[in-house]
Amino acid sequence: MVYLLHLEPAFKRARHFVGATSDPSTALALARGDVPIIDAPLLVAARDAGVQFTVERTWVGGERERARIRSQKGAATFCPLCQRLNQARRRK
Ligand SMILES: [Zn+2]
Repeated sequence: MVYLLHLEPAFKRARHFVGATSDPSTALALARGDVPIIDAPLLVAARDAGVQFTVERTWVGGERERARIRSQKGAATFCPLCQRLNQARRRK
């Protein structure tokens, strides 16, 4: 499973994290909207700094799908939360 985490506030200019997992219990937690402890340096540092993560999207797939999503510039275009915020901003 590939997943998109939204970071609030942004951490070192990173607003999103795209990861992939093949671990069933991690995938289950993500599907529920829970953010499991993920052993990625960026996330560990951000968590220590008090950044909140939310699971915004998941996809079926593995590393190949993750690479495809990451290679397309701007995780924000995949993030439902950012799209909602952008729409709200445009309406003003
Ligand atoms: Zn976002």
